[in-house]
Amino acid sequence: METRVTYNVVFVTSEAAPYSKTGGLGDVCGSLPIALAARGHRVMVVSPRYLNGTSTDENCAGAVDLKCPTKVYCFGGIQEVGFFHEYRKGVDWVFVNHPSYHRPGNPYGDVHGAFGDNQFRFTLLCHAACEAPLVLPLGGFTYGENCLFLVNDWHASLVPIILAAKYRPYGVYKDSRCILVIHNLAHQGVEAAATYKNLGLPSEWYGAVGWIFPTWARTHALDTGEAVNLLKGAIVTADRILTVSQGYSWEITTSEGGYGLHELLSSRKFVLNGITNGIDVKEWNPSTDEHICSHYSSTDLSGKVLCKTALQKELGLPIKPDCPLIGFIGRLDYQKGIDIIRSATPELMEDDIQFVMLGSGDHQYENWMRLAESTYREKFRGWVGFNVPISHRITAGCDILLMPSRFEPCGLNQLYAMRYGTIPVVHATGGLRDTVQNFKPYAQEGKSEGTGWTFSPVTKESMLSALRTAIRTYRGHKASWEGLMKRGMEKDFTWENAAIQYEQVFHWAFLDPP
Ligand code: ADP
Repeated sequence: METRVTYNVVFVTSEAAPYSKTGGLGDVCGSLPIALAARGHRVMVVSPRYLNGTSTDENCAGAVDLKCPTKVYCFGGIQEVGFFHEYRKGVDWVFVNHPSYHRPGNPYGDVHGAFGDNQFRFTLLCHAACEAPLVLPLGGFTYGENCLFLVNDWHASLVPIILAAKYRPYGVYKDSRCILVIHNLAHQGVEAAATYKNLGLPSEWYGAVGWIFPTWARTHALDTGEAVNLLKGAIVTADRILTVSQGYSWEITTSEGGYGLHELLSSRKFVLNGITNGIDVKEWNPSTDEHICSHYSSTDLSGKVLCKTALQKELGLPIKPDCPLIGFIGRLDYQKGIDIIRSATPELMEDDIQFVMLGSGDHQYENWMRLAESTYREKFRGWVGFNVPISHRITAGCDILLMPSRFEPCGLNQLYAMRYGTIPVVHATGGLRDTVQNFKPYAQEGKSEGTGWTFSPVTKESMLSALRTAIRTYRGHKASWEGLMKRGMEKDFTWENAAIQYEQVFHWAFLDPP
């Protein structure tokens, strides 16, 4: 019988699906904890109790008030937070309650942009998360101080610094460990140096978060570039660092991908690893998906064309089962290469294809999608918004999923696409390069291999060339296309796989402190 070391794991995150989600971070923190709990670990997820006055509030409705008001010190005074709790799928979901989390919008902002007090909101989250294992009697017992913190992105980055600066000097959390998981290095939690006093840290710890902006990022000649950078603080104080794919863990140590932190990350290379995200294979399963009209699997693909025609009907596009239908789902952000799609669209529309985009974000891209829809009535649909059921129907109904991301730490949509027999065409970067194998028609003894197309560099020309190859294959080589679909659908992207690799890193964190 296998004997396994298990840990008390405390996730700290700004989002966790289904309670809150704006992107992949929410997916990961909604699924990985469940996979780790299934392997015998005791797992708690600490995130804010967002109430935005819409139906998403129902997501938190099952959580009960633990009646454990807790005081933490930051922003020049004592702040009081509460904790709500729900035990679901083997995981303790803990929600930090504070009025600053109760407002319209998403976790980070509203129609006017990012909230001005995000540094406060997430500093509070970090202080509260450090108290949670000590004070919350979940199921009758606290997690205690010998736990493993898994802190995600800049919002949770103060945790390892607080542990080191405020608890360990008093003998608390001496044997805990902290792993930083970087989902996106582009967001670092940078604020003016003068805000250091808000963080609730002793003055001698300034060096952990103190940072000098690169010269090119300074706004005027007198700007000294001095700032606090919370992610940098976690990079220097966490026991280990993980990213969400191996490719990305290398890219962030290069000057092109390191966003000013590559030298620091290189200096910690010996504790830096990448683990490719899994996906929720129950939520994303074409043979049971409640959002799609017809189910299918790799052994019976017949339902897919029904999903395609249903999608064409829903979108008001001409119903053409043989016309290549290309999809895009994601945040409308420069990172995702929307400008490249925009510049390629006139040429793309010359071909007999259909194209649907779902996303929200940068207003200039939202407006362009609306304009493109009115320009190409028979071929283009731009759905502005965040809509999970539609994202499932696009994933199932399209033939091709396009992802020209400039960088992509892991990327989930290409994984969902492959599971639904939708062929990804992606820029060869980060997790996209790690997970999509280029199609080779005659790879071994005449047999083909690969699950999609990768292109590089990330330009309009190379993207169009890859798309056209995909479209030609779709039209002229049905057997090859079916092979691509089946190979993608049969890939193992389960969280179980990733959880086993996370466990390995947990062992290293405890066995081999740097
Ligand atoms: P990122 O975290 O950079 O946004 P990922 O590919 O890792 O990108 O994850 C994005 C997640 O958010 C996926 O689950 C994707 O389906 C979802 N998503 C993004 N935009 C939308 C949208 N407009 N509607 C529904 N889901 C979306």
